[in-house]
Amino acid sequence: LVVLATGMVPVSALGEEVLPPGVKLGDEFIPYVMIETDVLNLGYRQGGESPVLIYGYPDSNFICFPYETRRTGIYAAGSIRAPMDIPSTVEDATGAALKAIQCIELTDRGEAVHPRVGDTSYIDIFLQKCTQCKRCTEECPFGAINEDEKANPLYNPTRCRRCAICMGACPERIMSFKNYSVDMIGTMVKNIEVPGEEEEKPRAVVFVCENDAYPALDMAGLNRLQYTPFVRVVPLRCAGSMNLVWVADALSKGVDGVLILGCQYGDDYQCHMATGSHLAKIRLSKVAETLDRLKLESGRVQMEQISISEYYKIPEILDTFVEKLKEFGPNPYKGF
Ligand code: SF4
Ligand code: SF4
Repeated sequence: LVVLATGMVPVSALGEEVLPPGVKLGDEFIPYVMIETDVLNLGYRQGGESPVLIYGYPDSNFICFPYETRRTGIYAAGSIRAPMDIPSTVEDATGAALKAIQCIELTDRGEAVHPRVGDTSYIDIFLQKCTQCKRCTEECPFGAINEDEKANPLYNPTRCRRCAICMGACPERIMSFKNYSVDMIGTMVKNIEVPGEEEEKPRAVVFVCENDAYPALDMAGLNRLQYTPFVRVVPLRCAGSMNLVWVADALSKGVDGVLILGCQYGDDYQCHMATGSHLAKIRLSKVAETLDRLKLESGRVQMEQISISEYYKIPEILDTFVEKLKEFGPNPYKGF
């Protein structure tokens, strides 16, 4: 016999679980789970409630950002967020109320909320070239893009967290921010110096998520940890903003390997953008298939998960990757 005390299950759990179309339990990647109730009744294409994580509790990262939900401007507190008693609920409500005040003030100034607090950039979509493929609407973790009656993406700036996952997803490369775009990162990649084959120095490009992996690199530096000099670092807003064209650009330029450092994904995810890190992993698996077809070692493209507190792993990750590239030998596309 199991007795559940009041508050151990949120009222929002009293409905039927709904998965996105074409997704079933057990799939490697489930973009969101929604419970059909009539508690919030929001106007999102994914449904009227906030996505849940487990047992009907809102999908929110309890380690890095409690109170946040995947619906911008809605903060969960008390036994809606996790099982807790009255004193903890009072404390929790204070935290959530402070988050809500911050959200109102930031939104009033046209700025983004957590985690890119203060960002004033907005996504710009060159709609004339849109193929209505729906990748952006389906992959946005925060439901910030609906569709109009002609299936064009309908962007809602006040919901947007500026993660740029839609930019990474768009196959037409027509989504960009004024200060972050496919071209901007592509130009950085194309300007990385690649040593010639005769120099016997491998070159690896490391795309680093700014939320955990980049601070981990900083921590490694502050602690004077030594690692291979053959890597060049390109920071990203989120690993999920990675557009595959950057990987193709790097490899066709003769770079020997591409490594992505992102947050932990899966059940205990720590991705600040909920699904960005997992989406990056899925996109990379598609590159691996293409590399195999081109008879290029798929191990030249790799993803690693890291948190700030694991900064001591940085040298081992980078050194091991570069050693592997040395074993593969120079990228055959070098010099073309
Ligand atoms: S930047 Fe992120 S939150 Fe904003 S629309 Fe794109 S995927 Fe959604
Ligand atoms: S991903 Fe790009 S092409 Fe596809 S619907 Fe969105 S904007 Fe249009």
